[in-house]
Amino acid sequence: MIIDGHNDLLLRSWRGQPLRHLELASAARSGFGGGFFAVFVPGAVAALDEPEPPYSQPLPEPVDRDEALRVAEEQTAILEGLDVTIARRVEDFQPGRITAVLHFEGAEPLAPDLSDLRAWHERGLRSLGIAWSRRNAFAEGASFAFPSSADTGPGLTDAGRRLVRACNQFGILVDVSHLTEVGFWDVADASNAPLVATHSNAHALCASSRNLTDEQLDTIGKSDGVVGVNFCVSFLRADGRPDPATPLAEIVRHVEYIGERIGIEHVAFGSDFEGAIVPDELGGVDGLPTLVEAIRARGFDDEAIAKITHENWLRVFRRTWRPWLRYFERVDDEPRGTLLEAMRAFAVPGLAVDLGCGTGRDTVALLGAGWSVLAIDGEQEAIDRVQAAVGADARLATQLAPLEEARWPACDLVNASFALPFVRPDRFAEVWQRIVDSLRPGGRFSGQIFGDHDAWAGTGIVVRTRVEVERLLEPFAIERLDEVDEEGSTVLGRPKHWHLFHVVARKL
Ligand code: ZN
Repeated sequence: MIIDGHNDLLLRSWRGQPLRHLELASAARSGFGGGFFAVFVPGAVAALDEPEPPYSQPLPEPVDRDEALRVAEEQTAILEGLDVTIARRVEDFQPGRITAVLHFEGAEPLAPDLSDLRAWHERGLRSLGIAWSRRNAFAEGASFAFPSSADTGPGLTDAGRRLVRACNQFGILVDVSHLTEVGFWDVADASNAPLVATHSNAHALCASSRNLTDEQLDTIGKSDGVVGVNFCVSFLRADGRPDPATPLAEIVRHVEYIGERIGIEHVAFGSDFEGAIVPDELGGVDGLPTLVEAIRARGFDDEAIAKITHENWLRVFRRTWRPWLRYFERVDDEPRGTLLEAMRAFAVPGLAVDLGCGTGRDTVALLGAGWSVLAIDGEQEAIDRVQAAVGADARLATQLAPLEEARWPACDLVNASFALPFVRPDRFAEVWQRIVDSLRPGGRFSGQIFGDHDAWAGTGIVVRTRVEVERLLEPFAIERLDEVDEEGSTVLGRPKHWHLFHVVARKL
């Protein structure tokens, strides 16, 4: 199976133009399993065709947001009408069918206050580039220039940084292709997900402003991210010329270079089919098997080929689209202190509900202390992990449900370690009431609530002021209410301001 980082089929279809590279009807025969399908809003002035170097193009004019939203709706509707599966989770990629990642190439269709990001996520948005090569409310992209670095202008705005963090929370992949160098480093600082360039090449081999320096490549590798090698001849050739007579070996050269520099786990394809001049020798999607054989002929074995063609993309999807699992993977295996304190406060174990059970470490600790546990999570992988970690144990029950939809019986303990901030804000009051109502008198709640000073406040997570937290805890005797309001770091070691409350409380 071949998964690809970028195509512009939706744009061409929306314009009513015939396809050149990516006929879906025949694509499956070439092993094409899908990939990123870009929603792209063209400007009023059509971009120039790929120019002869040297060149340094001015930034195209920004597009109007209402217009961007209209075009995005129309292109998304085209995608929804295609004979493809729209990817919502990594399991949607299956051999023998085409799966499409709904990707915004530039965040222009989004409201700058991010109020519609959740709705787009629900519609299937799983990836976005903060900016294409122009300015928008979130960032400025790199202008097209050769020879040139990508250091052509400023990076992310404050809204852009909020967007990156909101994407982290929702599990939307953030694409750095088309960003300026400053923007790239802004994303690297703001994001806690693997860094991804869906369709960019090695600047060391082709000095285009659209390509990545060695330092950028190294950072993508360290973040466990992926670079999708772009087949656009202007971003492949050392001379940057838009010459369709470019040999396919030029693609192989970039794959090898990036693989040697940062590891074969971090290189994949990002064809730019339907959006660029690609080598005649490749043609289009039908040429993919030839490309794979050319890579194999350079000494890459089956294992490496599998990584380049699909496994690397799937790994990044798995890590990015499931923010909860990523979070729990990186923290230690100790159960949360709030849970341990709550457990110690009981004379005898009873029935506990573990909301957002994640890797299952809290559930395992509860079972180990003699509790019966209902472990609830919105991710099948989390449920699978808990069951695998516990094995056969009649005291464990599981429920696959987002916390907004979860239901559980009357119980003695509700544990929600770092789970409540990620409930839909408009449903938090309802979920909290369910927690309160389900606890028997003398039962306890343990967990975390985020404060309003947290760096992620305003990115679609639930935050409460101290006064509001105290109001939430009115049906309880507070046994622990520790407020953390300090600079710290994310699980990936990036600086972050944390504001949260560690809570243990006994129901009155
Ligand atoms: Zn592009």
